[in-house]
Amino acid sequence: MDRGHARAAALLLALACTGVTGACARPGGDPAGSGASGEAAASAAQAAAQGQGATAATTPADGTPTDGTVPASASAGSPGSLASSEVTGSAAAVASGGPGTPTAPAAAGTSLRGKVVVIDPGHNGGNSRHTSQIARKVEIGNGNKACDTTGTETNAGYAESAFTFDVSTRLAALLRAQGATVVLTRADDRGVGPCINQRAAVGNEAHADAAISIHGDGAAAAGHGFHVIVPHGIGSNDAIVAPSRRLGTQVRDAFRAGTGEGLSTYTGTRTGGLVSRDDLGGLNLSQVPKVFIECGNMRNAVDARQMTTAAWRQRAAAALAVGITRFLAG
Ligand code: ZN
Repeated sequence: MDRGHARAAALLLALACTGVTGACARPGGDPAGSGASGEAAASAAQAAAQGQGATAATTPADGTPTDGTVPASASAGSPGSLASSEVTGSAAAVASGGPGTPTAPAAAGTSLRGKVVVIDPGHNGGNSRHTSQIARKVEIGNGNKACDTTGTETNAGYAESAFTFDVSTRLAALLRAQGATVVLTRADDRGVGPCINQRAAVGNEAHADAAISIHGDGAAAAGHGFHVIVPHGIGSNDAIVAPSRRLGTQVRDAFRAGTGEGLSTYTGTRTGGLVSRDDLGGLNLSQVPKVFIECGNMRNAVDARQMTTAAWRQRAAAALAVGITRFLAG
């Protein structure tokens, strides 16, 4: 469509929407939480596709924590407030988590100084208004897939992109508070893309010690629970298969313990909640340990209720921080 995207297409590939059968791709969906004008969003997406957007949300290169000075009054549980999530450190995690967040303090005690973590919030709030732009194909190592997808939403209209961005920014704050350098693949929830190949490239270019792509699933309403997707080797990514599985195992265990969310009832039931896939550009193209997590099924009433709750998203972020920390410390 434009030079920026053509360049991105030439880079790599990945599928951000990770439903079992691509169910979380809802071209007809209408994700909420996007307030930017179309032009501004398109411009942001183009910048992101060119790799500029990826740096917008980075911490200082030395990994200096940036969240420790935030007033304790910053509420990690403010519904719908993405800004508040930017300023939540470990103190906020404890404050918002209460008795139901037993794992948050454990993660906060481990230094991640010198470690680089890339967090990929799946989809983007402007995708649904630029369907042709995100529908163009990019290469994913063993085929082609759409640049990006709209993602799913709850029946009440809470968009997956808003969920993933909120959890991601909460997770970023927690990891930064532990000293990690954190890079997000997008800086807000108003833009378009970046393409899945570029999302993978961000992790590679950052030489991430660990990378995670965060999603909510859009499966049949009866199914519930979370699952973690790990790379299935396609040759070019064989080196990351084993470490990614270790990362996935830690993330799975921590997420289950920290959120109380059960393993998926509709996929990965015979493999302990770990699903190995070779159809996701974000994993096929990664050269660093990387997993996807489908935090729950947004089309399931119980999961949707949890995922719509800011306090639960904080617990999810704290649990992910624990899993990533354990992997990095291992
Ligand atoms: Zn998704």
